[in-house]
Amino acid sequence: MFGVTRFNLIFDIVATNQLKNPLTIADWGEFGFIEALKQRLPKASGDLKLGIGDDAAWWSPDVGNGILTTTDMLVEGVHFDLSYTSAADLGYKSLAVNLSDLAAMGAQPSTVYLSLALPARIEKAWLENYVEAFLELAQAYGVQLAGGDTVKADQLVISVTLCGLADAGKPVLRSGAAVGDDLYFSGSPGDSYLGLQLLLGRLHVPEDFGDFGDLNQSAAFLQMRHLRPSPRIELGAMLAASGAVTAMLDVSDGVIADLGHLLTASGGLGAEIEACRLPFSVAGRYFIDADLVDYVTLLSGGEDYELLFTASPEQRLEIETIAAETAVDLTRIGRITAPAGIFMLVDGSRKPVGERGGYDHFQDQSS
Ligand code: ADP
Ligand code: MG
Repeated sequence: MFGVTRFNLIFDIVATNQLKNPLTIADWGEFGFIEALKQRLPKASGDLKLGIGDDAAWWSPDVGNGILTTTDMLVEGVHFDLSYTSAADLGYKSLAVNLSDLAAMGAQPSTVYLSLALPARIEKAWLENYVEAFLELAQAYGVQLAGGDTVKADQLVISVTLCGLADAGKPVLRSGAAVGDDLYFSGSPGDSYLGLQLLLGRLHVPEDFGDFGDLNQSAAFLQMRHLRPSPRIELGAMLAASGAVTAMLDVSDGVIADLGHLLTASGGLGAEIEACRLPFSVAGRYFIDADLVDYVTLLSGGEDYELLFTASPEQRLEIETIAAETAVDLTRIGRITAPAGIFMLVDGSRKPVGERGGYDHFQDQSS
């Protein structure tokens, strides 16, 4: 009797304690976490001869046209905010942004390394959800987690390094654009920006959404574009394999800023964007038409994780075919010019776009 009561008491204390203080990484420990991670993974296979558990991973790929590597670091408070980003969203996105970089080179992803700096407050359940979403996306793209590092720190920092192979063609660089090339963009610009503004509560979906459609569905769509961008791996590989594309990058800083990077890398060229061709989403259009956002802002917002690329006008049919085969919208939004600078063609006039593209508007917006 006494024993049972005592047991119940201890059980209650433990249960209450856990409710108030869920298990954290400090309870779990570095090696507990790594062991659980290892258990969760399938055995290394294919090119990966040895994964987690030794001093280094052993990767023995048939390198074809070469190995591509990319790394991205995400810092809490700088790149993400846990108040509106779930562990699963972050797990997904921390890999997705790296996949997007390899997509922009036309490479096939293969192995990934995950390094975590974890404050003691990080909960075990949070980490489990993070890893789950990370590995789910990895599996979807045939990527194996080959290693990483786990350390204690005051701030949550996530560093992901992704390796891939350029086996579908030569890697496509930013530097190959030529005067007269067409300029293309995949998907619709600015949705991620709008989604972030909604998440931050800086923008609200107005009540008079009119015939726009299901309001919540649209807000959810925009938020998903921010939290769960789609890596364009298949598209990037097909564009690279076609040989039609002269320069390509993925848009993480916004269309205008990243176009600037492509133009600079290609020797200081310029570009003209035809405003009427810009492929804003239905949701994006709504916010523009309601004067809630300036369309240049949608071209400057960042984190689209779409592909921006150039190709000779002779390749238009080829590009259309790839769009159809990959079921990704590809829009010809303008062309590359010899004079430097980015210009917008609006209602027959040619307006310079502000240097940084940001909220700087058009320099002569009044005209
Ligand atoms: P070492 O001290 O030899 O560098 P560690 O104890 O840091 O080894 O890591 C042990 C194994 O666990 C290594 O194979 C390493 O790659 C892997 N590892 C550690 N942390 C992570 C992580 N966050 N994600 C994936 N693998 C990890
Ligand atoms: Mg180590």
